[in-house]
Amino acid sequence: MKKATGGRRPKPKLKIRKGDEVQIIAGKDRSTRQRPRRGRVVSVDPETRRLTVEGINMRKKAVRESAKVRQAGIIDVPAPIDISNVMLVCPNCDAPTRVGYRVNSSGVKVRQCQKCSQDIDQ
Ligand SMILES: [Zn+2]
Repeated sequence: MKKATGGRRPKPKLKIRKGDEVQIIAGKDRSTRQRPRRGRVVSVDPETRRLTVEGINMRKKAVRESAKVRQAGIIDVPAPIDISNVMLVCPNCDAPTRVGYRVNSSGVKVRQCQKCSQDIDQ
């Protein structure tokens, strides 16, 4: 059940988008000091606040031969993880960071790295 919020409020936009690089900070595939786990976001589901990251949270999936799948058998596919388990990796300072927003000179809201204050979006 969804909590009643008293009127329609637009969903806050997710700070992570498809194509972003993220670092895994919690869960089974979380990063360690020795081995940071990073990957590119393949898909985001704003409804469930879950996302799929390349090479993270891999699951075995049995597939049958079909027109799409030539070779039947067990394949590895990434399963969705909760958005709170990842942090965006800043393309400028290459560190996992929190995301803020600012309005740029052309009036567009862009994401901004809270560490180096550079824009994440062009
Ligand atoms: Zn940065």
